[in-house]
Amino acid sequence: MQDLPGNLFIISAPSGAGKSTLINALLKKHADMQLSVSHTTRAPRPGESNGVQYHFTDVPSFKQLIEQQQFLEWAEVFGNYYGTSKSAISDQLARGIDVFLDIDWQGARQMKAQLPFISSIFILPPSVAALEQRLNQRGQDSADVIAGRMAQARAEISHADEYDFWIVNDNLQQACAEFEAVVLSHRLSKAKQMQRQSALLSGLLANPAK
Ligand code: 5GP
Repeated sequence: MQDLPGNLFIISAPSGAGKSTLINALLKKHADMQLSVSHTTRAPRPGESNGVQYHFTDVPSFKQLIEQQQFLEWAEVFGNYYGTSKSAISDQLARGIDVFLDIDWQGARQMKAQLPFISSIFILPPSVAALEQRLNQRGQDSADVIAGRMAQARAEISHADEYDFWIVNDNLQQACAEFEAVVLSHRLSKAKQMQRQSALLSGLLANPAK
């Protein structure tokens, strides 16, 4: 997979760090970047539809896909199964599209083990207070539910040191620029440019016609 022209990026964060907002902002700006659509056994939330946010599936079908080795990685997150299928990313990468994997630390570990060149980005909230506030704003949940989400957030953050890049999402515009910088710098690396610009370089190096 390393020879494909597109780049793969893992993006992880505790919920409430603004990961989806950041990813969506970048996708809006760049037509040649896409989000991988995972499979999940969790129920769709209002506004979600099959094949867009996720491929929604049931547990037996998910287990069958595991057996058929269709997943590059999969994990149980908050009591549901989630997985990245090979087909979710290979076509886009072959077409030179950069693909973002919005996956948790367990999936990130599996992907890194298979594809060591993959870049991983961890989004951090700017403070405990900001995280608490963002988790609170999501609905009218009880203090217990919020405390549970804070504990889950801490569990995810405890794996931040396994990632290559950290972005602190304090100011959205700044965080977005930093995210874009990471993605574009990979795209501009010599290894990738050699694939994209080989014709240009050959032309530039060709001897002038006499
Ligand atoms: P949600 O259900 O809120 O969309 O996602 C819950 C968590 O599952 C998030 O941390 C998200 O990054 C993670 N997740 C989503 N898709 C995948 C996947 O394909 N693999 C893994 N390992 N985690 C995923």
